[in-house]
Order: sequence, then C-alpha cells, then structure tokens
Amino acid sequence: MTVLLVLLLSFAQAPQAPRFFSDPPHKCDSCDEWNKPREPFKVFGNTYFVGTDGLSAILIAGNEGHVLLDGGLEQSAALIDANIRKLGFKTQDVRLIVNSHAHYDHAGGIAALQRASRARVAASRSGASALQRGENTTDDPQYGFGKEFNGFPPVENVEVITSDEQPLSVGNIEITAIFTPGHTPGSTTWTWKACEGLKCLNIVYADSISAVSAPGFRFTAVPDRVDLFRRSITRLAELPCDIVISTHPSATNLDAKIKQRAAMQPSDPDPFVDHGCKVLAAAAMKGLEARIAEEKQ
Ligand SMILES: [Zn+2]
Repeated sequence: MTVLLVLLLSFAQAPQAPRFFSDPPHKCDSCDEWNKPREPFKVFGNTYFVGTDGLSAILIAGNEGHVLLDGGLEQSAALIDANIRKLGFKTQDVRLIVNSHAHYDHAGGIAALQRASRARVAASRSGASALQRGENTTDDPQYGFGKEFNGFPPVENVEVITSDEQPLSVGNIEITAIFTPGHTPGSTTWTWKACEGLKCLNIVYADSISAVSAPGFRFTAVPDRVDLFRRSITRLAELPCDIVISTHPSATNLDAKIKQRAAMQPSDPDPFVDHGCKVLAAAAMKGLEARIAEEKQ
C-alpha cells in the first residue's frame, strides 16, 4: 500500500519534460572526468553556464527564445538539457546553437540538442563542414587521430557564417562571431553584451587556442597557418572582455571563481569580472611559440 502511494505520488510529481534522446556516448580517456555533472549557474544578466564539470556550454536566455553555445560530448547533451530545465528554461525554446570548434568534446552533443530544440545551427565555413561530416576537416591539426577517435554525430542543415564579426540575432539577443583559427581551421570565439539593469558587460566565450595536434602534424609546414594563429591570439587579447569563459572551464579558472563568489560580500568585486582575455591570450602565445620552436629543431 505504502509502495503504491509512493509510486502514485512520484508519478503525480513527475516533471513534464519531454524525453531527451541522446546519441551513444563517446569513449575517451578524459570523457568520464569531463562529463561529471556541474550545477548550472548565472554568469551575468541573461547568461548562464549549463555545461559539465570539464566542458563548457552557455545559455543566453532571450525574450523570443534562447541561444546555446556548444554541446559538449554526446553524453553531455542530456546533462545540458537537464541544466537548462533546472534554471527554469526549456531546451525546446533554444532557437540557435553555435559551436566553438567542431571537435567531439564540444560538438558531440549538438546533434541531439538540435533534435530536441529544432534550433538553427550556425558555424564558420570550416566549422560547418566538420559539423556536417561528423569529423574534423582534413586540414585540422588533430585530423590524424582518425575517425574512430575524432568522430561525432553529424549535424544537419548547418548555416555557414560567411564573414568575420558577423552578428547573429534571436529576439533581443545578438552574438558576434570572431573567427580565431588555430586550434582548428574553423575555430570561433563568441562575444555579446549581457546586462543587469543599466550595467552591461562584454562577455567572451573564448574558443580553445592551444596548438595541439596528432603526431606528424607541423603548424609551421604552412607559414600562413602560423600567422593566422598568432593573429587569432592577438585578437582575443584585444577583445572588449569583462568576463571570459573558455571551452574547458579550467582554462579560465571557473572553479576558483565559483568558490570566490560563494564566499564574497555584496560589496566585493565579482571574481568573474576579471577582464581575463589578455591573460588567456598570453598563455596561448607562449604555448604556440614553444610549439613553433620545437618544430624548428
Ligand atoms: Zn579541440
């Protein structure tokens, strides 16, 4: 009898969220670690963190639907969906999904999130090509790891963002694509303004900017590639940047900032407002120059 009552009660209280259909999980050494759940939280204004412990996903909530940046791994999509609902929003109200770069750890969940929301998906030309292939483009530094490692569920109907600094709008939201090729040829950093009352801040969702490759790849094999990579890093440093969040939360010290926020007094400055793009860019430039020196030896 008690069991029946509990069953009935839990049934009556079941949330009416639509079932989320995930793609099969990705398998990689870091996948389980990256995909640990993380409590979603407000970053500033209409901007929320909805990703996992090790993979960022950002929701920008608008008056005519939302924008979602990145989808994590295949197995992150259900966690991102749950995080969006935990904040009181609906994944079905996402109208636009964009991507930092089309590697499995940031794009693997996009296909499922697109199915759940029927949102438009937009990406740089090279990024769109990789999303539709469900695999890195052949000129990607990590292409050599192979499809078994690199592959992810292909995304249909990806709109191509043709020009750098192109704004994309959903209702009262406007985000701007900043092409930052280097980590991948299609890498894109995103920026927008978020407001609380009269106070507006420049938010930057910084794409990965590390010179990581499969064995045998040389960034210096094509001189233009190194120049473009350096230019991407310089552009990141020069962006209006009050708050920066990177594709992997650790690169911009997300955990430390969350801890500091929890301990702060109302009069304390927000640890998230650290204008951190220059620091991130400086570390990236150091990494790139070290890689170039290594290749020249
Ligand atoms: Zn990557």
